[in-house]
Amino acid sequence: MRSTQLNPLFASLRGIKGVGPKLSHAFGKLLRGDENLEARKIDLLLHMPHSLIDRSLQPGLAYAPDGVIVTIRATIDKHLPPPRNNRRVPYRIQAHDETGELTLVFFHAKGSYLEQQMPVGEERYISGRLERFKGEAQIAHPDHVVTEEEFASMALLEPVYPLTAGLSGKVLHRTVIAALEELPELAEWQDGPWLAQNSWSSFHEALQRVHMPLETEDIDPLSKFRQRLAYDECLASQLALSLVRKSVKKEAGVARRWQGKLAEALTAALPFSLTGSQTKAIDDISNDLTTPERMLRLIQGDVGSGKTMVALFAAANVIESGSQAAMMAPTELLARQHLQSIKPLCDAVGIRVASLTGKDGAASKREKLKALKDGDIDFLIGTHALFQDKVEFADLGLAIVDEQHRFGVHQRLMLSSKGRATDLLVMTATPIPRTLVLTYFGDMDVSLLTEKPAGRKPIATRTMSMDRLGELVHGLQRALQTGAKVYWVCPLVEESEVLDVTSAEDRFSSLKEVFGNRVELVHGRMTPDEKSAAMYNFKDGEADILVATTVIEVGVDVPDATIIVIEHAERFGLAQLHQLRGRVGRGDKASSCILLFKGPLGEVSKARLAIMRETEDGFRIAEEDLRLRGEGDLLGTKQSGTPGFKLAQMEIHQQLMEAARDDARLIIENDPALQSPRGQALRNLLYLFGRDEAIQLLKAG
Ligand code: ADP
Ligand code: MG
Repeated sequence: MRSTQLNPLFASLRGIKGVGPKLSHAFGKLLRGDENLEARKIDLLLHMPHSLIDRSLQPGLAYAPDGVIVTIRATIDKHLPPPRNNRRVPYRIQAHDETGELTLVFFHAKGSYLEQQMPVGEERYISGRLERFKGEAQIAHPDHVVTEEEFASMALLEPVYPLTAGLSGKVLHRTVIAALEELPELAEWQDGPWLAQNSWSSFHEALQRVHMPLETEDIDPLSKFRQRLAYDECLASQLALSLVRKSVKKEAGVARRWQGKLAEALTAALPFSLTGSQTKAIDDISNDLTTPERMLRLIQGDVGSGKTMVALFAAANVIESGSQAAMMAPTELLARQHLQSIKPLCDAVGIRVASLTGKDGAASKREKLKALKDGDIDFLIGTHALFQDKVEFADLGLAIVDEQHRFGVHQRLMLSSKGRATDLLVMTATPIPRTLVLTYFGDMDVSLLTEKPAGRKPIATRTMSMDRLGELVHGLQRALQTGAKVYWVCPLVEESEVLDVTSAEDRFSSLKEVFGNRVELVHGRMTPDEKSAAMYNFKDGEADILVATTVIEVGVDVPDATIIVIEHAERFGLAQLHQLRGRVGRGDKASSCILLFKGPLGEVSKARLAIMRETEDGFRIAEEDLRLRGEGDLLGTKQSGTPGFKLAQMEIHQQLMEAARDDARLIIENDPALQSPRGQALRNLLYLFGRDEAIQLLKAG
């Protein structure tokens, strides 16, 4: 049970004055990724500022640096409303100080409000990011416009936060301050000497200093306040992982026995021979399965390294030993694809395989569930529908999770609860640098697939400016005549207000004008059936160009596709580009990858795309990516955060994660049920950072 002391923090933001239904939706969207989820005070308190308004920075217009948030004391000269019939033109206001001129720019503005806020002839303090266009200083949508009197009463330093539509920085900050007031004094969960050694303050003080900074350094990710909070998050995560691992290991496993007949039959049925890495991984797994301890193993292999085959052999062995196996994929599309590629082999050797996804009809579902319970299905493939309450296995011996980083601790717990002594195999294609593996997976055993199947040709990667689109389309026409199949990847489904990204739908229609029915479209807003049909049409039908959003990123396998075009490549993370590129180069034909970018590119963007040209080694790409991002992610790509973490950033706080891992081990050793006073405080920590699923395990033990 959560300590009642934490209740105010887990109460909705709607309890705060001024937060009505509309704002509540905006906060839900910003803090929980979904406007229908209610944001709680703790979510807001853990939302970190990315920069500061420093009101002491009043350089005067002529001396104001470009791109920096400054405060200008300016006199308002003139209002320039947009023409009545053209809402696209912004509302402009001209102003000046002793050193120069300034234009304020407002899109979709309410003129009457601006006139009242900034009457001509009056002086105002204006804070915002100043930018120069052709020498003219501009601030678009200033953060604050206040009178001298108001200015005098404002804090000199004000944090600036990531925002979302319908939520202003002013409102957000006011709400944070209100939430801070309800923060209880919590018993310290960190080790005293460790705190002293780092000169870290209490959780309470750290949050206060980040949201109400006294010095510009306070909000820096390397400040002692931010480090303390990042360490809290790292420790919560490591503690949860250790608890999960301990509970899985604690339950005795089964020492499985089989002769190897199914594996032998599979080997004979395969049109290729296994790579050395695949054989090694299968051996590792066999060893785990034959010991009486439960298996908890991660297969980490670059895209196209053949993980599915490893999973199939593992399943075959467990099935021969008399138990069942299940494989969970993150999407319908992948579950179906796995079934398609595995079924012929299973049929050939007599493994009874079936699939279960969210869209099975009631009758077919009932039938499958019964067969599963009766032991008439050996191998079940599906989405997370597999692990719903109603699904009962006769004897689940092996659970396989594909593309594991999309699932959380919670799903892993559900998994291990489906069988009595279920062994667990997780597979990921994300080339996570070694240093990060423990962040995601805790201390699992790892098998690496380092080799690619024989006969793979390297993928020729080129970068090309969008200006040469016509040329590219022309080249594709020729390639199609020789039987090529092409993926065309676009970043977003719909025209976004903020980003000028060509939508997949637009690209689809423009390519259709050239290629007619040979173009197919697949994106995340389509139903699973529509997606499946589109993929099928590309794989085996008449389409040979597939326009897609990143839904094809993970796992899709069409071996005879040889060209992939990635539009706005500069907006993708390198790991993502690598995943996408891995969709080609799967057969024995030479493949190419064209990275379309919209210039001009900055230095870092150039360097990133150059890495993609240079290497196909996913680990190297991941490491270079980390290095470049460490040097400042000014790219505006969506990947700046570390998945699953709110404030710890791996490229910055990596050492903290390593320390937290050791710390967590010690804690579990000394106080396995978290019952000491510090243990009780650590339970609070797990709740605060959303890792409390692990607490259920304590009760069971
Ligand atoms: P990933 O590791 O990305 O999940 P897959 O398991 O989808 O890779 O395998 C990619 C492709 O390579 C599939 O078409 C698969 O049949 C094929 N494949 C797997 N192992 C081998 C091998 N040893 N030799 C040749 N092709 C292989
Ligand atoms: Mg795969």
